[in-house]
Amino acid sequence: MEREQSNLYRRLPQLGEFLDGPVGKILLGTYPRELVVEAARHVISRLRDFVKSGTMTEEMMEQNLEHLAETIVATLRNGMEPSLRPVINATGVLLHTNLGRSPLSTAAIRRIEEVARGYCNLEMDLATGERSPREAHCGELLLRVFAVRGGMAAEDFLESHATLVVNNCAAATLLALNSLAEDGEVIVSRGELVEIGGGFRIPEILKKSGATLREVGTTNCSRVADYAAAIVPQTKLILRVHRSNFSITGYTDRPTLKELVMLGAEASVPIFEDQGTGCLASLSDYGIDGEPTWMESVTGGAALVACSGDKLLGGPQCGILVGQRGIIETIRNNPLYRALRVDKLTYAGLEATLLNYLRGEQEQIPAVAMLAMSEATIQDRCEKWVRELDSGSLQAEVVPTRSMVGGGTTPGASLPSFAVALHHAKFGEAELAARLRRLDPPIIARTTDGRVLLDLRTVPPEQDTFLVRLLRENLRGKEQLQEMEPNVEVNL
Ligand SMILES: *Cc1c(COP(=O)(O)O)cnc(C)c1O
Repeated sequence: MEREQSNLYRRLPQLGEFLDGPVGKILLGTYPRELVVEAARHVISRLRDFVKSGTMTEEMMEQNLEHLAETIVATLRNGMEPSLRPVINATGVLLHTNLGRSPLSTAAIRRIEEVARGYCNLEMDLATGERSPREAHCGELLLRVFAVRGGMAAEDFLESHATLVVNNCAAATLLALNSLAEDGEVIVSRGELVEIGGGFRIPEILKKSGATLREVGTTNCSRVADYAAAIVPQTKLILRVHRSNFSITGYTDRPTLKELVMLGAEASVPIFEDQGTGCLASLSDYGIDGEPTWMESVTGGAALVACSGDKLLGGPQCGILVGQRGIIETIRNNPLYRALRVDKLTYAGLEATLLNYLRGEQEQIPAVAMLAMSEATIQDRCEKWVRELDSGSLQAEVVPTRSMVGGGTTPGASLPSFAVALHHAKFGEAELAARLRRLDPPIIARTTDGRVLLDLRTVPPEQDTFLVRLLRENLRGKEQLQEMEPNVEVNL
């Protein structure tokens, strides 16, 4: 046994030998020397570890040596691949936070590319050549979108309101609370002391902002009188938080925004609403009722509203504040704003997305298009996929399912949809889902009740043909199955 092992050690390739060999020379002529050396060292040292483990046989060593060059090339290439990659979202969750929330419209992508390619007038007024604030880029447009969609006189609305864009809605909330309520009190209902996910908790953000939380009401019931009783001279704000990722049902009570606005007006305390979703159009057209819109919050009299750019608005990641001009001005002058402001690419993407709305082209925004996609269209696509896929060891069938909006919006609401259910003769659901994730591009499926489901609502229709071919080639035949083994792992 020991002799066998020392024989194996002797057969381990030498780094210098590999580098001087034909493949080594080609690689050194193509890639930086350090990377080639690193990859070769890595592969050889894994072989050494394998010998050391005592499980390597002569035959295995033979095979590994035969594939040595291939393995080193694969390792080298893997090391140069970006880690952030496009994936196919077949989960049916439209705004999947783990998958990057909303995809952008073609107009937004083009705009980002154009602006990224060279210089732009981010902080310059082209008419005068003078410096001008970057906020100029989306501010007016956003207000016009509101005015047009809300049927308000644009001129008045532009006069009374202003906007500010920061990194995300969490940043917007933190910045607003710090600017308006540091060293003062903020009233929040106990039913709205929420956690949104990713560590965003209202009480913690409030504490970090330097404001003191004044809780009112109970988990299920808060009334205007509770708010009124909590107002003291130190009260700076009433914060209303949209319950965007959960719901409370049964015996509940909660003042409307209008009631709070009336109370705030009497007591001279502004209302700040963390609206979150950025939903501009009513979702009832798509069969989801009761989801409050961003529009309602702004036109309903909240002095300040915060929301995300990459939820139902369907734009790039950012946080958008819309509010009374004086309030926005105060926030704008907070030095923290400088730390939370966004870059030119965000403005480019957001502006193009807002223009999609202004021009009435919102169905060109993928998040909106996916909401609007009819069940019949999805069913039809699923049937085509199944016709192409169902054979041999792969069973495919069309099943009804429900898509979720997700991403911290519309809790519990879902849209009727259809999915391609896959079943493989050899692999269980977890293994099949893992194999889908190893494809290029990776396909992220939903697994339920022993089945792997591909909900086509969130899969771009223009990719159907390509994806069906990808699945056929990789999941049906025996030969192809071997190809799918990750080669580096198998050889070593
Ligand atoms: C999503 C959400 C947030 C956090 O938004 P990010 O853009 O992810 O920071 C905050 N508040 C509410 C109500 C939300 O729905």
